[in-house]
Amino acid sequence: MKFIDEYRDASLIGKIAQNIQTSTRSDYTFMEVCGGHTMAIHRFGLRDLLPGNIHLLSGPGCPVCVTARNFIDKAVAIAQMENTILATFGDLIRVPGSHSTLERERSKGRQIKTVFSPLDAVEMAHQNPDKTIVFLGIGFETTAPGTAIAIKMANRKNLGNFMALSAHKLMKPAMQALIHKGIKIDGYLCPGHVSTITGSAMYSDFPEKYGVACVISGFEPVDMLQSIKMMVDQLEKKQPAVEIQYSRAVKPNGNEKALEALDEVFEPTDTEWRGFGVLPKSGLKIRQAYSIHDAENRLSIPEIKSLEDKACICGEILKGLKTPIDCNLFGTACTPENPVGACMVSSEGACAALYKYQK
Ligand code: SF4
Repeated sequence: MKFIDEYRDASLIGKIAQNIQTSTRSDYTFMEVCGGHTMAIHRFGLRDLLPGNIHLLSGPGCPVCVTARNFIDKAVAIAQMENTILATFGDLIRVPGSHSTLERERSKGRQIKTVFSPLDAVEMAHQNPDKTIVFLGIGFETTAPGTAIAIKMANRKNLGNFMALSAHKLMKPAMQALIHKGIKIDGYLCPGHVSTITGSAMYSDFPEKYGVACVISGFEPVDMLQSIKMMVDQLEKKQPAVEIQYSRAVKPNGNEKALEALDEVFEPTDTEWRGFGVLPKSGLKIRQAYSIHDAENRLSIPEIKSLEDKACICGEILKGLKTPIDCNLFGTACTPENPVGACMVSSEGACAALYKYQK
């Protein structure tokens, strides 16, 4: 199968792994900042193919995981409002809030629907003119254009009953925050899907200012090992740079139409990330011109003081400071069937991926 067989070719995988081994004896730490990469690393057992001096660290790449608990609490509060339908991607339903989950609220009869696209929520607004439809917008530059297009469409159709609650986030500020926190990262395995939208230029600060290698990687084992080899080569030559390994999907300029839609509908704002706190200009807020579709602006959402679960170290895992096996609850009190934290809910979360493929 095209792009499957050749990218999972065992002899090629073995050769690249061997090449990495003979290329360096230096200790390098590479962080992936994409939930899809986290999952692929576990699924294909890539850590086991690397020499002991190459370390892989998971970062803040899972959209559900980085969504702050306060957002879930707000979503629960909206779900409890009269005459309201909450539309959300499936993963978010099971993420624990301070006092409830959307799944629990749904079992109590609240109207919470899972959708596959924000456009489904626009259609819901069209079909239910007497109800308020609130779409929960989460994720990075990959999913935010879909929300932007849904808002534009609802606006064009005069569907004032369609709103979005935005927790959309920008990838670069979190990557920068990790460097500023002093976490040892020699290279970023840059997110393939985000980069299809943003292009490659947004990573240029990392090699230029911080000496960090950057390779935008695909998701198959050959892609990822080749990307690791490219980062090793950059560092061995002392020439960190931004390279695109995933050239079959990522162009240097990204997707200009999607970027235009993003810029038209959203503006950067300070936002809270799980584990990081508030990062300046790291989120996307709906612009004034579209404020009729902004749930924060239209609805009286109560101020909620969110409570973190002290036993869950998901925030530390997202910063690359700990791994799931450092958590006392991993695989015992916390499992995919009974998740205590967000990192065990999403299939892209570090805890869920490790549990699924290595437990
Ligand atoms: S195993 Fe569960 S409780 Fe522990 S860090 Fe992961 S999500 Fe949190």
